Amino acid sequence: MQSPKNIKVHKEQRLLELIWSDSDISRLLFRTVRQNCRCAVCVDEFSGKQLLDPETVPVDLGVLEISLCGNYALRVRWSDTHDSGLFTWNHLRSIADAAAAS
Ligand SMILES: [Zn+2]
Repeated sequence: MQSPKNIKVHKEQRLLELIWSDSDISRLLFRTVRQNCRCAVCVDEFSGKQLLDPETVPVDLGVLEISLCGNYALRVRWSDTHDSGLFTWNHLRSIADAAAAS
């Protein structure tokens, strides 16, 4: 499993920078990360259907607090007060890969 060796939060540019153990670098806009939140509020646990309308996430979304959850995930408290999401390294990596491919 990939894990980041360094995590930088660029509040001015509103992006999260992850430097992976293989030295790949992912730069993710806060908004993109938030739009991919998979918590029970954002995604229906049973159907897997997305409940969050990605368009409702503010373009100027900021981060109030980022903390490590164990050694496998990040917990983020967003400026829109949403804080129930947990972003595992695999999930962040897949968000980054999807964003790079689009
Ligand atoms: Zn969520």
